[in-house]
Amino acid sequence: MKTHTQVVVIGGGVVGCSVLYHLTKLGWKDVTLVERDELTSGSSWHAAGGFHTLNGDPNVAQLQSYTVDLYKELEEISGQSCSLHLTGGVMLADTPERMDFLRLAQAKGRYLGMDLELISVAEAKKMFPMLDEKHFIGALWDPIEGHLDPSGTTHAYAKAARVNGATVYRHTKVEELVQTPDGTWDVITNKGTIRAEHVVNAGGLWARECGRMVGIELPVLAMEHMYLLTDEMPEVVAHNEATGKELIGILDFGGEIYTRQEGKGMLLGTYEQNCRPWSPRQTPWDFGHELLAPDLDRIAPELEVGFEHFPALQNAGIKQIINGPFTFAPDGNPLVGPVRGLQNYWVACGVMAGFSQGGGVGLTLANWMINGDPGYDIWGMDVARYGTWATLAYTNAKVQENYRRRFRIRFPNEELPAARPHQTTPLYDRMLAQGAVMGDSWALETPLWFAPEGVEAKDVISFHRSNDFEHVGAECRAVRDSVGVTETANFAKYEITGPGAEQFLSHLMTNTMPKIGRIILTPMLNENGKLIGDFTIARTGEQKFYMWGSSQAEIYHMRWFEKHLPQDGSVTLRAINLGWVGLSIAGPNARKVLDKITGEDVSNEAFRFMDFREMDVANAPCKVNRITYTGDLGYELWMAPEYQRQVYDALMKAGEEYGIVNFGMRALLCLRLEKNFGTWFREFRPIYGPYEADLGRFVKLSKESFIGKDAAQKEFDEGPKRLRVSFMVDAGDADVMGDEPIWHGGKVIGWITSGGFGHHVNTSLAQGYVPAELARDLGDGAFEIEILGERRKATINPEPLFDPKAERMRM
Ligand SMILES: Cc1cc2nc3c(=O)[nH]c(=O)nc-3n(C[C@H](O)[C@H](O)[C@H](O)COP(=O)(O)OP(=O)(O)OC[C@H]3O[C@@H](n4cnc5c(N)ncnc54)[C@H](O)[C@@H]3O)c2cc1C
Repeated sequence: MKTHTQVVVIGGGVVGCSVLYHLTKLGWKDVTLVERDELTSGSSWHAAGGFHTLNGDPNVAQLQSYTVDLYKELEEISGQSCSLHLTGGVMLADTPERMDFLRLAQAKGRYLGMDLELISVAEAKKMFPMLDEKHFIGALWDPIEGHLDPSGTTHAYAKAARVNGATVYRHTKVEELVQTPDGTWDVITNKGTIRAEHVVNAGGLWARECGRMVGIELPVLAMEHMYLLTDEMPEVVAHNEATGKELIGILDFGGEIYTRQEGKGMLLGTYEQNCRPWSPRQTPWDFGHELLAPDLDRIAPELEVGFEHFPALQNAGIKQIINGPFTFAPDGNPLVGPVRGLQNYWVACGVMAGFSQGGGVGLTLANWMINGDPGYDIWGMDVARYGTWATLAYTNAKVQENYRRRFRIRFPNEELPAARPHQTTPLYDRMLAQGAVMGDSWALETPLWFAPEGVEAKDVISFHRSNDFEHVGAECRAVRDSVGVTETANFAKYEITGPGAEQFLSHLMTNTMPKIGRIILTPMLNENGKLIGDFTIARTGEQKFYMWGSSQAEIYHMRWFEKHLPQDGSVTLRAINLGWVGLSIAGPNARKVLDKITGEDVSNEAFRFMDFREMDVANAPCKVNRITYTGDLGYELWMAPEYQRQVYDALMKAGEEYGIVNFGMRALLCLRLEKNFGTWFREFRPIYGPYEADLGRFVKLSKESFIGKDAAQKEFDEGPKRLRVSFMVDAGDADVMGDEPIWHGGKVIGWITSGGFGHHVNTSLAQGYVPAELARDLGDGAFEIEILGERRKATINPEPLFDPKAERMRM
């Protein structure tokens, strides 16, 4: 056995083998996979082998498409067949809401170049004669769907990797991982120790255990999953003979069932409501090529519906029932990337659809390890999206919820209930008492909107404008007309101190650092000049800064900051987390309210726009930024949690004479649209450059250096190829949700990132990216945005509709 290698990949399932293959494909040859048993000894061998490209996150869909295209390449290099059956598949809708969902899916697919087609039930029946038409109202055809041999495919990855120079050790169990002082790893196996520069945890069913070897608890949980194989069916044989074709795959959302041809019979699987986690705390090491005991009773309700929807199945004999475990992260997407706080320890686990996603996971992880960047926008799969709050119990509740909802629609205004409330601020009960409808912002309860007295504090879930519309509208108008207060708890906050603090921040950020008592806004770029952050920074002393960013990206950003911290101890960086909570007041009367409860001079002359001040507010020590995301006159107040109630109560009392209102996250997001402000992970993501994103004014190319400067300079010199723009949309009763295609001249030329209704300016608004040359087309209705299957006229508004001269923020 080798004693040294560049990479040890732990786990010979489809994911580990894909990572191994992609490392060799991108040029690293001295790579080694270690498997405790035979390859595919976890969940890979008993998978149903289905694959598809569709995913709610277009970035993940793109990688699924890559995975499907990869199989031919693998077969060619390895000489091993994957037994690919590219049958195509149909998704069946049984309700108008599901039809809307299919329309949305088709529209999303358009700008990814996916060839999805809405078809009638009669057309679907022609492709799949076993379905009973009366249960359905429409369907979506996807030609890039099918199934393959899971074991053959995993071996094809491994063989192709070996052809490229990789080593595979079977029957070799990793028992311990020890980091050496030089940052490399001693991978201690039952056959000896290998010293490796990098370790990849692709342990599948044992990913948690391989995480515990380095002291981390990964949020993954295995669920039992069953599918049936039928005996030969005359209906299948007849279809094959009549058409010369295999039956297509079917996804029946109403029945919560998937089915496809297997041999001359059918395979039928379901994500049952009565689901069951497997080994919730500890996966047994002696679990091997085994199946779990079938439990037909558990899936009986779903099977009954399936038999009604596809009556021929009622008469089919059941040849075999497969029940096997496979893992999920709380949101059902993979966990990929480097783990914060550990050197050269990477994960590729929680992959619930290894045969749709394994290729993309392998490609992006290999890119990341070799080039320092995944090469794609994989926020949806990044392990950094979970913090320590994703405990075992949280994961257990969320994974079960996600499993049960596998075939359910997630409406844009739908909040999911499992594991809630998880984290709350001191205002939680006060907010509820005032009618707050709460949202889950990365496990923190955050007010979304407030139901007035007599109105039920509950969302009616819908793709269309819903019951919150008029109340969010009232909140927005109250802010613009007088003053409102909102809780800004879901921000990440950081403290950066030390003699090297300014230089450190200046090296990371594109903007120059502020003077003491002032604030700047700044993007952060990676080496390729793409946006990886967007921050507010205040300077409080020569060597002291505070910084605010997106709370969902806190671990993602901390991983980056820690990687770039100077080793000489000249900078201390601390994530404050919920050590501070926040309140923001905004609107033309905001100053008058603040003035009543602080002894400080907060006049426009003494406390200017973009000033920072530490001051007592309602007797509580607060840090105050004169800036708000509403684009109005306003202030952000930050304080330790023990003061939050006191400050809130004082603000409400002081604001009484001005009719102060509570406003929630939804109103805040509408208000920022009226100012053309972007948001992190919608408008600002690692696929866009700062000039494309219209953040060029915060990029100081005159600075000596910052990460990504060369690429930013290039983008500036050549001019951005596409541009973020804002639209007024001639919407009906539904505003954009994000990911809708933008049409121009009869072609799809871009995509929407987010939008909603501007209640003060009284129009539907959207933001998105279009080719730079088209961004100059200001013609009335020059664009169309496809909302729920209808192309709606849209016009670029080059200036914010609210306060284009930015006078209100400065008043
Ligand atoms: C019934 C069923 C049906 C499914 N149907 C589909 C489908 O139709 N389409 C689809 O895409 N997916 C399907 N899946 C899911 C699919 O099986 C998984 O996505 C996939 O197998 C995950 O692969 P993996 O490599 O991450 O994990 P695993 O297959 O679990 O592989 C992990 C490997 O790591 C090894 N290992 C762990 N720890 C160590 C250690 N310490 N030392 C050495 N080796 C170690 C294990 O022995 C194992 O071989 C199905 C799953 C089930 C159970």
